[in-house]
Amino acid sequence: MRLQDLMRDRRVLVTGGAGFIGSHLVEVLSERNKVFVYDDLSTGRLSNLDDLDAELVVGSLSDLDLLQRTCKGMDYVFHLAAIPSVPRSIDDPAGSNIANQNGTLNALIAARDCHVTRLVYSSSSSVYGDTPTLPKHEDMMPDPLSPYAVSKLAGEYYCKVFTRVYRLPTVSLRFFNVFGPRQDPRSQYAAVIPKFIAQAREGKRLTVTGDGTQTRDFTYVLDAVQGLIRAALTDKGDGQVLNVARGDRVELNRLAADILAAFGRVLDDGVEHIAPRPGDILHSQADIGRARALLGYEPQFTVRQGLDMTIGAL
Ligand code: NAD
Repeated sequence: MRLQDLMRDRRVLVTGGAGFIGSHLVEVLSERNKVFVYDDLSTGRLSNLDDLDAELVVGSLSDLDLLQRTCKGMDYVFHLAAIPSVPRSIDDPAGSNIANQNGTLNALIAARDCHVTRLVYSSSSSVYGDTPTLPKHEDMMPDPLSPYAVSKLAGEYYCKVFTRVYRLPTVSLRFFNVFGPRQDPRSQYAAVIPKFIAQAREGKRLTVTGDGTQTRDFTYVLDAVQGLIRAALTDKGDGQVLNVARGDRVELNRLAADILAAFGRVLDDGVEHIAPRPGDILHSQADIGRARALLGYEPQFTVRQGLDMTIGAL
């Protein structure tokens, strides 16, 4: 079934809808639903919503009154707004906390007061920390290594508590290195794939942190979108945390070679190794069994397919 056909005739609010993942969700949902975007445009861009049939409310998660007014009449809230960067949270822990932890609390209060059918929260694999166990499964003890990870974990706990205490149905999805078109390569905190693609395209050497043997569970953005929509629609999993990823891992050196190859270049002279980033983990791979069982989630895109579509969209 097409992603666009999973949900129809609903009113949905996407916080962070002008951002990378949010705008893909808006693109898919807006075909058959009435979509509202709530975003302060801090890291998101208006151009991400070009030609999409969605109503934009420019506002901060800190503005509970505006958030509550925007939430009225919604069936679902997809809460994606956040400052989504480990290094940025290390530079500015208070700023990350306000957007991510306090912001999630406000989104939950608004969703509770407007009696929405469900709030789906986008959490992060960073909450697992650097435990050697692979793949990471949801019953493992979280071990955050950065203020960002702490703030995302706090959001999960708030979701659980709002389900228990106020009976607001919530599901938290832990995303693992989502990538795809529209991901910002220019930020100093850019994720590795858009950064590598921009460097390869400009004929520069790809800056690989450490020795490049780190691995990540790179997830194409439309698989993340599939997880979000299925999490809203299921009647299972209230208050639960679910991994959403490809369920595989790719070494950074392999990724660099594939991206260089797509631009007709070779690894030998195309890479420069730089110091590892504080708070970064070595290996990451998700166990996606729970999302499969509860949501019927099944990733549809390999990393190579996702890279081709990302590079093709440039
Ligand atoms: P993004 O920066 O592109 O999108 C975040 C959006 O939130 C932006 O449009 C930004 O303007 C908005 N925003 C930030 N602070 C706000 C505030 N205080 N009030 C209102 N709007 C605000 O990031 P993304 O990669 O699309 O991430 C979306 C969500 O997914 C985040 O919650 C992030 O933590 C989570 N996540 C992303 C990844 C990934 O690999 N991209 C991995 C794990 C989790």
